Amino acid sequence: LSDRLSGVLEKLTRQGALTEEDVATALREVRVALLEADVSLPVARDFVKSVQDKATGQAVTKSVSPGQQVIKIVHDALVQTLAGDDVNAGELKVGSPPAPVLMVGLQGSGKTTTTAKLAKRMSERNKKRVLMASLDTRRPAAMEQLAVLGMQIGVDTLPIVPGQTPVQIAKRAKQQATLGGYDIYMLDTAGRLSIDDELMDEVAAVRDEAKPHETLLVVDGLTGQDAVNTAENFNSRVGISGVVLTRMDGDGRGGAALSMRAVTGKPIKFVGLGEKMDAIEEFHPERIAGRILGMGDIVSLVEKAQEQIEAEQAERMMKRFQKGQFNMNDLKQQLEQMQKMGGMQGVMGMMPGMGKLSKQMDEAGLDDKVLKRQMALIDSMTKQERRNPAILQASRKKRIAKGAGMEVSDLNKLIKMHRQMADMMKKMGKMGKKGLMRGGLG
Ligand code: GDP
Ligand code: MG
Repeated sequence: LSDRLSGVLEKLTRQGALTEEDVATALREVRVALLEADVSLPVARDFVKSVQDKATGQAVTKSVSPGQQVIKIVHDALVQTLAGDDVNAGELKVGSPPAPVLMVGLQGSGKTTTTAKLAKRMSERNKKRVLMASLDTRRPAAMEQLAVLGMQIGVDTLPIVPGQTPVQIAKRAKQQATLGGYDIYMLDTAGRLSIDDELMDEVAAVRDEAKPHETLLVVDGLTGQDAVNTAENFNSRVGISGVVLTRMDGDGRGGAALSMRAVTGKPIKFVGLGEKMDAIEEFHPERIAGRILGMGDIVSLVEKAQEQIEAEQAERMMKRFQKGQFNMNDLKQQLEQMQKMGGMQGVMGMMPGMGKLSKQMDEAGLDDKVLKRQMALIDSMTKQERRNPAILQASRKKRIAKGAGMEVSDLNKLIKMHRQMADMMKKMGKMGKKGLMRGGLG
């Protein structure tokens, strides 16, 4: 039994673990790629460093080179960094109506366009009644621009009253939104060509007046090193809740996304993909990660190799189960598998139609805590006990439970579960011998 298991492991790690040198070599390339994608220098440096520590010592997948393996690890880390823990990309967190949404950013970043795009999206998709107001008092044409867009997309705009300050307009927008029964009112602010105190003070005053539920920083996705400065300033002086990256329809590789995310820690909510009013979509971390790194071929090559190995592993396991061999090591693997799924529970709860499945998993007691406790019990067994659970007598049980900080009754439950699963596997194996499973095994 153990020979077979270690055989699998040996295959998995035949090329050994990533050495510090493997990692350093590949990361030099990664750093260049990040800088070429316009990720800001300090952000690129920090990111590479964090991956360095994570990658060293990791196993190299069969038929993949160490360098390729590092690229895959970098890719995954990039996706994770970009995604953060934001499960609601593409949603605005708006409270009770009328909910104020404040749009901020430099001049020409795409605030006015994005305001209208989002208003359209929310009124069409979410059936929200939206009112838009331009607070750009510096350029009269800017107010007209929003009014024209509003007519084009069929969203109301606040009537223009000359001579008012941005704060006064914000106040009027709130009144109008309340009286008119709007769900959301969007405040499109003026920008500057670069950060200055006057702009920050003006935006901060509007924020204090409106108390926005969302404050979205609109950033031109083609900006490189400056993106960090912009994000830092707006975030520290106004406080933003999310980012919209515009002009991602261009050839820019979108490094600003990583810079924004790293510097503000705030989610990237939307991506602008053109001048048309429908040219906006929710942020997809995978896509942007691929674009920033520009090494999609390598990533998919490593993914294929990993899938291949997982398939081989599964096949070996099935063969053993068919012979009625199912020990505690196997049970632990199954639990780990469930844990991976459990990690998805939160995500599933968010998806339409999946809420029920997620609830069922909850009720079956397959939550993370239970799984962790069960695995801790297995960890506290000796190798021999794991391979042959039949030898688990009272004194061994006491020792194992104590080692895992649990009761013998907990262990008994686990043993019962193991027995049930072993029986099930055996039955499945018999079915397989009759040919039922064979087709599936290929
Ligand atoms: P504001 O000064 O921040 O309000 O910027 P505007 O909304 O007026 O946009 C400035 C210019 O950028 C306009 O010509 C927009 O059509 C254009 N623009 C905005 N978003 C995008 C985008 O996602 N892609 C492209 N290609 N152009 C955009
Ligand atoms: Mg504007």
